[in-house]
Amino acid sequence: MSESCEKVALPVKNDLGFFEIRMESIGGLGANVAGKILTEAAIIGMGMNGAGFASYGSEKKGTPVKAFVRVCEADTKVRINSPVEEPHILAIFHEALIRAVPVTAGATPGKTTVILNTRKTPTEARDFLKLSGGAIGVIDAMEIARATRSRVNMVMIGAIAKISGFFEWKAVEWAVNDMFGEKYANLMKGNMEALRRGYEEVKIEEFPKDGKYEYKPFQRDVPKYGYETAPIGGVLFEMGNMRFKDLSTSRTGIIPLLDLSKCVRCGDCDLTCPDFCFVWEKGIDPKSGKEGMILRGIDYQYCKGCLRCTHICKPGALVPVKEAEQNIEQITVKHKFLK
Ligand code: SF4
Ligand code: SF4
Repeated sequence: MSESCEKVALPVKNDLGFFEIRMESIGGLGANVAGKILTEAAIIGMGMNGAGFASYGSEKKGTPVKAFVRVCEADTKVRINSPVEEPHILAIFHEALIRAVPVTAGATPGKTTVILNTRKTPTEARDFLKLSGGAIGVIDAMEIARATRSRVNMVMIGAIAKISGFFEWKAVEWAVNDMFGEKYANLMKGNMEALRRGYEEVKIEEFPKDGKYEYKPFQRDVPKYGYETAPIGGVLFEMGNMRFKDLSTSRTGIIPLLDLSKCVRCGDCDLTCPDFCFVWEKGIDPKSGKEGMILRGIDYQYCKGCLRCTHICKPGALVPVKEAEQNIEQITVKHKFLK
């Protein structure tokens, strides 16, 4: 696609000559595709050299995903394929990942710009991520994606392109078009709008290394069990261990909100919910005065935001609302026997 003979120079590069990007995300938000688009934009669109690859487990919506992009000038050879440890740009697609994955490991002040999909200000984001310092960019990618009927990855690509300082806008637009233009032509207007808004609306602030938080070096994930340590037959010794799971990273901005005054205790929500979200306790029904199981609320630790419950609830006691406008800790009701 590149028509220009001029070599594109990188504004900064590491000792091996690469500008490196790491995206921390969950399955379903499109980090893998974002990596492919940025790599295509650099290599085919701008005549550079590089590599893009991803690392994920069961390829299931909601599970952690890492995508890596390594870009170098046209005459530099790509001889490594290891994960990006100290990126120039670290893009975090979902805030809740911080609870489950050491997403900020290797974010180095003076080198890394962290971009977080959030409604927080840069100062709030720095405290939330406990970053030792450096540049932080914030963008409300979830809201922009909803407003433009696009996806979080389009907004994040726009923000990454802006912060990189070298991605040519027409190359990025071309790569998005190449990926989706034919297959999803009807979505291209929204995609381009999301891309542009990501570029224009990302807000960046620089923080000194002031000792407020410790620097976290990158560490390779070492699985707890290997061939020498795994229990014979793969037996699970911890019964009921799913209760430790936190599924909040699976949500993409919308949650069910329960209005108990409209609930008729039919139980349809619990039957349709794929997880362990609805908290019932024995009690007296305030309407009938009879003893029975009463719905107390939702344990959002287990809610993956599928919204099936909102479709099944005929009295309208469960409605979809924006997660960012709720205080999840305040509205969560925990199962008593798990406290
Ligand atoms: S489906 Fe609706 S009305 Fe029925 S128990 Fe659940 S919240 Fe209550
Ligand atoms: S959205 Fe509703 S049905 Fe889906 S996991 Fe959450 S509580 Fe369960």
